[in-house]
Amino acid sequence: MRALRFHGRRDVRLDEIPEPEPAGDQVKIAVTAAGICGSDLHEYRGGPISIPTTDPHPLTGEVAPLTLGHEFEGKVVAVGPRVREIAVGDRVAVNAAIWCGECPPCRAGHTNICTKIGFHGVSGEGGAFADFDITRERNVHRLPEAIPDGIGALLEPLATGIHAVAQGRVSAGDMVLVQGGGVIGLCIALAAREAGAEQVVLTEPSAARRAAAKRFGATITMNPLAGSVVEFIGDITDGLGVQAAFDAAAAPSTLDTAVACTGAAGTVVNVAAWEKPVPFDPTTLLYRETAVVGSLAYTSADFDTAVRIGAARGADLASMVTTTITLDEAAGTFARLGEDIGDDIKVLVRPNRYP
Ligand SMILES: [Zn+2]
Ligand SMILES: [Zn+2]
Repeated sequence: MRALRFHGRRDVRLDEIPEPEPAGDQVKIAVTAAGICGSDLHEYRGGPISIPTTDPHPLTGEVAPLTLGHEFEGKVVAVGPRVREIAVGDRVAVNAAIWCGECPPCRAGHTNICTKIGFHGVSGEGGAFADFDITRERNVHRLPEAIPDGIGALLEPLATGIHAVAQGRVSAGDMVLVQGGGVIGLCIALAAREAGAEQVVLTEPSAARRAAAKRFGATITMNPLAGSVVEFIGDITDGLGVQAAFDAAAAPSTLDTAVACTGAAGTVVNVAAWEKPVPFDPTTLLYRETAVVGSLAYTSADFDTAVRIGAARGADLASMVTTTITLDEAAGTFARLGEDIGDDIKVLVRPNRYP
């Protein structure tokens, strides 16, 4: 079968590899849609970052070349002998996290911060930019019909937004700031409104992405290159600041901006992987007792919430897809997006139109 594999920086190839067959609790999926993620492009442009190349990943035991693709939906075409609930013919989306189930964070339910955490399509165990993929039954979520064809691939980033909003302790009536209008920023805006936030201010340089943000629940959008975000938030909150600020941009000043915009006992959530360290003055956290937390991926419960929100907001999610390509076009598209993502929001690879 065809599989788009990462061989090294700026080197992804559509290789011919053996078709995987499910063993044990594994489910074999004909991939119908898989999203290209910002992290895939980071790996392409600046990697390897998380992709193991010399030391095998502790849970998968694999090193590059590895198949990419961790945001996807498809049709189940075969199941292993220990699979119980999922059946051939089911339409499913996949929780891409790979966790050990035994370490203290896993035992406490924080499987997303497993001490050995890995990700399907990054750390091995297959990947979705391929004709077929396999994963464990515990990672598979059955999709309701209300989620449009292909849009199950967006539940993975949506689950990331849902987890970030929980980390930000967003509650009814809050005003929140989201920096960055890429897919994760948009998913945070949507999840924040679903959690009851009354106002979502989203900052993003691209006019196209600012327009998209309105569909995802942003009540106010702003170009951060055209004025001071800190002054703007100060003005509209009478100097009190927002209850939570999310950094989905990772620009040099966005962490300082997030802290400066957050009010008393508020929370700053970093969801971004930064390419380099930035200077930061911790004294700025004292006067309003600002909490700064990280947010990584999601748990199975967050993914269940994403399925539920996806069923209610399927058309909005579908509007995030700006380009659709075939698997044969994927390597060329990586080269293009690796240079400049432009106004694209989500690029969807469609390996199969199943059945
Ligand atoms: Zn992703
Ligand atoms: Zn673990």
